[in-house]
Amino acid sequence: MPELPEVEAVVRTLRPILEGQRIRCVHVFHPIALKPQRAPCLAELATDQCIQRVDRKGKYVLLLLDRGLLTLHFRLDGQLVWFANGAELLERANVKENGTHVDVAFEFGKGVLGFADRRHFGRVHAWDRWEDSSGLASLGVDALSKDFTVARFRDLLAASVRPLKDFLLDQTWVAGLGNIYSCEALWHARLDPRRRAKSLRPEEARRLHKAIVSVLRRALECCLHPAPDFHDSQWWFQGLQKILRAYDREGEPCRRCGAAIRRIEQSGRSTYCCRKCQK
Ligand SMILES: [Zn+2]
Repeated sequence: MPELPEVEAVVRTLRPILEGQRIRCVHVFHPIALKPQRAPCLAELATDQCIQRVDRKGKYVLLLLDRGLLTLHFRLDGQLVWFANGAELLERANVKENGTHVDVAFEFGKGVLGFADRRHFGRVHAWDRWEDSSGLASLGVDALSKDFTVARFRDLLAASVRPLKDFLLDQTWVAGLGNIYSCEALWHARLDPRRRAKSLRPEEARRLHKAIVSVLRRALECCLHPAPDFHDSQWWFQGLQKILRAYDREGEPCRRCGAAIRRIEQSGRSTYCCRKCQK
């Protein structure tokens, strides 16, 4: 599931391709990807507009237009696919034999960008103003922005009685972390995911802040080398496994103390941690 580093890598790769490009037309193959919006709204807002800027907030990709914006959210396994032109899109998109799944596509002078999610959880939305998107408007401070300071983080922690893991997953406090990098940050900070957020001492809050930033930066480096290849519909990020210390390592030895990494359930999701050195 793409979290902040994966989405940031997509944004940095897209930026030189899309900025300054005019959307000639919009193709909607599977309207479910726009839900609860409707295809005519997207086409009306996006057609004939230039992409001024490609940006990110939390796990959202933002395409800022002359007027309004588009948001892309990949959810579980949404992705982007590039086609040379409209003819190639229509030849390959959603055809039975060797076709490429595409839900929505934006046609530019230099090629076509497709958004695809076979499981149809991912979403493409059009907004007149970013405040109109309740998802965007509710996001907390972005974990890789300069606003994510130790002091701010400490205040947020102090205001929540929820377990640390749930606190980190809640995008309204800190935006960008998902299941993988929240487990990793807690392992690096040597903190038990079940601790209440407000129970952290200042020194522990500082440690967790540092762990979040360094885990995300390291993962971003990994996601950029090699960078996403939108020409390959099978492409996915590689090499992330080798930087993981806790996530999906149930039963394997902790790289710090040697005890077995445990898997526990929190709010219906798996948390991986070392019960010996995460206190
Ligand atoms: Zn350990």
